[in-house]
Amino acid sequence: MPSSHLQKTINDSLSSAIPSEEIQSDSWQKSLSHAIRSPEELLEKLKLDIGQFDIPKEAFNNFLLLVTESYLNRMERGNPKDPLLLQVLPTGKELVSPPGFTEDALHEKDSHFARGLLKKYHHRALMITTGTCAIHCRYCFRRHFSYLDEPRQWEDWKPAFEAIEKDSSIQEILLSGGDPLILNDSRLEKIIKRLEEIPHIKRIRIHTRIPVVLPSRITSNFLELFLNSRLTTFMVIHANHHHELRDDAAESIRKIVRSGIPVLNQAVLLKGINDSKEEQFQLCEGLINLGVIPYYLHQLDQVEGTSHFETEETLGKEIIQFLRENLPGYAVPQYVREIPGKMNKTPLL
Ligand SMILES: *Cc1c(COP(=O)(O)O)cnc(C)c1O
Ligand code: SF4
Repeated sequence: MPSSHLQKTINDSLSSAIPSEEIQSDSWQKSLSHAIRSPEELLEKLKLDIGQFDIPKEAFNNFLLLVTESYLNRMERGNPKDPLLLQVLPTGKELVSPPGFTEDALHEKDSHFARGLLKKYHHRALMITTGTCAIHCRYCFRRHFSYLDEPRQWEDWKPAFEAIEKDSSIQEILLSGGDPLILNDSRLEKIIKRLEEIPHIKRIRIHTRIPVVLPSRITSNFLELFLNSRLTTFMVIHANHHHELRDDAAESIRKIVRSGIPVLNQAVLLKGINDSKEEQFQLCEGLINLGVIPYYLHQLDQVEGTSHFETEETLGKEIIQFLRENLPGYAVPQYVREIPGKMNKTPLL
């Protein structure tokens, strides 16, 4: 698509939004600073009685509750089993740790290539751009990750960029975290510009849950950063339930798709949230209706504090079979799990 046309498309899709881009980019940072951080406040807004939940303080001392207003707005009032609520509400079940569930289930500590850089697979490296997210997902596989050792200042990134520069086998850089879209546009621009200087880097892949949880972050200024780059950009978003794809999130995802950036989705199979044929069907259908390709359905990583979300692999396989029978081929995700030491994610089918 010629870039002038692209620009027009972006402008068009923005025209219905807030008129001034400046107000808009302010507003996502403001929304984030107003995010909900206490179970009491969250449950009160949902008209739920905190007495009916088991939420011991120890369950979230080290991984606080965090949820944006936008995400809250997509939860159903008065429903203690709302699939979005269950993704963010701490529970005493997090204190149970059956054998096999460990803090660094993926052995990421062994994959540090340089400070802030993981390289597990051929031709791709993953930058831990920040430890911060716009939401805290209780099942997160990085909930125990020690971000303290990762770079913070721009200068701290020097060794990572030099390591990328030295390894000409790397073609693609994954921007991950935390959530890379927590970074402001000028920091993202610096990262892109630095990567553009490295001839063997051809692609950037952004792994982010922000279009789903903090949709106002997706401004046209932000999208332009990537559209003006020589690097091909892919975005992998993270939605687990079709209710997440409503309202402002749907609009923002559309905006990214219309800008021309290919958007893929990864989901995690979560007990009590999306572990049914019907829900996975609705999720995948919702995604393709927005122009997003379902990429991966992850079997839960065995990380301490998340065992209550684990499902049987046989169920996952049945779900995929059902999706194959009911959706176009491109709408069926790959069902995978990550096995430490393997050179790719392991397909379970
Ligand atoms: C998942 C992952 C990737 C990307 O794998 P793809 O199969 O290309 O999506 C790259 N690096 C790390 C460390 C990962 O965990
Ligand atoms: S947004 Fe991603 S990295 Fe952050 S808590 Fe959720 S799953 Fe983990």
